[in-house]
Amino acid sequence: MSSQKGNVSRSRPQKHQNTFSFRNDKFDKSVQTKKINAKLHDGVCQRCKEVLEWRVKYSKYKPLSKPKKCVKCLQKTVKDSYHIMCRPCAYELEVCAKCGKKEEIVIPWRFPLLLSLECSRELMATTATIYWAQVILSPQPSK
Ligand SMILES: [Zn+2]
Ligand SMILES: [Zn+2]
Repeated sequence: MSSQKGNVSRSRPQKHQNTFSFRNDKFDKSVQTKKINAKLHDGVCQRCKEVLEWRVKYSKYKPLSKPKKCVKCLQKTVKDSYHIMCRPCAYELEVCAKCGKKEEIVIPWRFPLLLSLECSRELMATTATIYWAQVILSPQPSK
């Protein structure tokens, strides 16, 4: 057995984490947690979905601080923790984005879903720009 199960001490996982790299984001932990909790585990198989949900439930889900390399297209396009493949690749190959196996995908990934749920800052910025452009350009203030 691995040493993982050996530790029975009840220390809470609230210890201050040492972040050695400077993080530029202004999101505080509660916002981060909310985001994680609201996360929809799409594009993965049942087993992987359960693993991800388990991680979220037990606060073991660590969001990526920067995109990871996709095993398929070799671009840094993986934005979801524990995924090995980026969404477009997994979608195209019809495989689970986490384990890479050809399993039935519980919540199929869709582009509009990505647009509304992905918390990519660039995307948010773009969306915000479009939104404000519409607000500014619209003759009537929408209230
Ligand atoms: Zn890819
Ligand atoms: Zn899977």
